[in-house]
Amino acid sequence: MPQILSSSPPDAQDADAFFDGVDLRRLAERLPTPFHAYSAHAIRQRIDGLQQALHGLDATLCYAVKANSTLAILHLMAEAGVGADIVSSGELWRSLHAGIPAERIVFSGVGKTEQEIAEALAAGILRFNVESADELHTLQRLASDLHIAARAAVRINPDVDAQTHAKISTGKAENKFGVSIAEARRWFAEAGRLTHVRLDGLHVHIGSQILSVEPFRLALQRVAAFWRELEANGHAIASIDVGGGLGVCYRAGQDHPVAPADYAAAIREALAGFRGRILLEPGRYLVAEAGVLLTRVIRIKQGERQNFLVLDAAMNDLLRPSLYDAWHDIVPLVDGQRERTRYDVVGPVCETGDTFARDRELPELRPGDLVMIRGTGAYGASMASTYNSRPLAAEVLLDQRRHAIVRHRQRFEDMVAGEQPARDWDMA
Ligand SMILES: *Cc1c(COP(=O)(O)O)cnc(C)c1O
Repeated sequence: MPQILSSSPPDAQDADAFFDGVDLRRLAERLPTPFHAYSAHAIRQRIDGLQQALHGLDATLCYAVKANSTLAILHLMAEAGVGADIVSSGELWRSLHAGIPAERIVFSGVGKTEQEIAEALAAGILRFNVESADELHTLQRLASDLHIAARAAVRINPDVDAQTHAKISTGKAENKFGVSIAEARRWFAEAGRLTHVRLDGLHVHIGSQILSVEPFRLALQRVAAFWRELEANGHAIASIDVGGGLGVCYRAGQDHPVAPADYAAAIREALAGFRGRILLEPGRYLVAEAGVLLTRVIRIKQGERQNFLVLDAAMNDLLRPSLYDAWHDIVPLVDGQRERTRYDVVGPVCETGDTFARDRELPELRPGDLVMIRGTGAYGASMASTYNSRPLAAEVLLDQRRHAIVRHRQRFEDMVAGEQPARDWDMA
């Protein structure tokens, strides 16, 4: 149901409705909800802010593509000179397709297949962040087959508690990521046998949505101590990749992200005297707050104990609340004064987990009202599925009061593309 635009002068609610100079209420009259909207300006600001904080260092940003892998977002990164941190062939393909040069691409992940390694070698990527001895030997064999010298960093598991949600903590000894410093030490001791892998980098990534500089400091100190030890033993280290993990504000007034200057200061301090290149893999930090999910109220359902606000967006469009119990600020874009009330905010998907918020205080809402869910630019569209046969939502890029559709809402035909009835049976 289209909302009539108010002609009253801008008030606080009005300000909420403007994103990168675009009136989201007007946009939602033209585009069916739900859809994702991203502010190009907000993304560029984050990139600039981080780059300024790193001024004077030989530092390269490699955006963690998994945070938001939509081509238009990757184009934006490419234009800003930002590289990519990829975790699959699909992300390699997207990044190259969007114009991110191979020499700015690093490849992370515990499960790189032989095919993926071979493709990345052929593309000539900057560096492999190697996570196991088996992967290192596979890389050596494949690089040797292709007569290519691969560049590799060992991903260190520094056994540091990132003090974040357990499902996005990656730097504890019990996590699947990286190897211990003791194991990495053995790799370097035997690196002379690697004829086609130049093992001259260190990598660390301890987790995501980190809101204190201390875990970064601790991890960097451990990596730096190891780098000094390696150099003392004659191993030249050309690059140290400090990973991603910078947290963002999902809950206004409650989440206090680390300032880029403080983060950069921790890097400068820990890596003082390092002459090589520093790589960073920010994902969420660059895009999360640059995205909102626009959705409309389908109906209010009175339950026994609470009232349910049923939206036309669901867990298939934004999985974080279901997966991580994540908080997202929910801002109705409605006119006039309304009583306040409490809702469980849910989607239409047939899962109890399809809940965006419990017992959330909001203005009283009515069917058709427009609602904005904030902080959805990272791990929103990139985690989306078509569960319940709900087509992938449209995505719109906003820039200086203009908007461009960068992903059309999936048509049903697109949703079933590649499916077919079982006709051509084959013996296995
Ligand atoms: C996911 C990931 C990142 C990005 O994490 P953010 O919290 O989004 O910054 C960086 N590096 C690696 C190896 C990752 O797996």
